[in-house]
Amino acid sequence: MISENLARIRATLPKGVTLVAVSKFHPAEMIAEAYRAGQRIFGESRENEFRQKVAELPSDIEWHFIGHLQSNKVKYIAPYVSLIHSIDTEKLLDEVEKQAIRFSEERIKRFGSDQIGVLLQLHVAQEETKSGFSPKELLELLENNRVAERWPHVRLRGLMGMASFVNDPEQWRKEFRTVVKCRQDLLNGPLLSQNITEEEFSVLSFGMSEDYPIAIEEGSNMVRIGTAIFGPRNY
Ligand SMILES: *Cc1c(COP(=O)(O)O)cnc(C)c1O
Repeated sequence: MISENLARIRATLPKGVTLVAVSKFHPAEMIAEAYRAGQRIFGESRENEFRQKVAELPSDIEWHFIGHLQSNKVKYIAPYVSLIHSIDTEKLLDEVEKQAIRFSEERIKRFGSDQIGVLLQLHVAQEETKSGFSPKELLELLENNRVAERWPHVRLRGLMGMASFVNDPEQWRKEFRTVVKCRQDLLNGPLLSQNITEEEFSVLSFGMSEDYPIAIEEGSNMVRIGTAIFGPRNY
């Protein structure tokens, strides 16, 4: 079932769109099944589950952290994580910087670099419960800080967004466009003056099981899909 789901989804993804298989709340055996079907990038959202699965599963898996991350939990994922999608405060960036330095040796061994890749999460949905920066806050953050000086062990790869939990494709489109426009504004403004290029700040992570076809139409190049691959989750 998992391999058929993966094949069906992959067939619809244009070249250049990366698939993150969101495996949160699913057991390691299901990830292993997706792995056997060729999937190598998995997304998790809780640090304890993340650590357990890293320990149990093949070492060539690329692990992404996609859920809300508390500062005091960064240390548990820092040695293993390829990309953190969910940076939603300045404080969290400071903590990622600190833990990247602390686990420098492990990361150089595993990844060939001690920098931790991150995406900045934009709050575009209507729900207040979702976290993330506003476009204005992000502009200010990057106008007031030079990334290479304040967070030299952080590699800023792009933006992440989550659309509203409503069944309204036009609303999703509007929210996805906000993410795309914010990237462009950052590239034309503070990132330009910091010499952070389009190629470097290239990731647009939005689109989930329900909305990913629309997300791709609106310019997503990284989709995070769980239910459509693994089925419903038992929380
Ligand atoms: C759970 C989750 C997903 C996947 O959602 P599905 O609807 O199961 O595809 C994607 N992104 C984030 C941040 C999530 O927490």
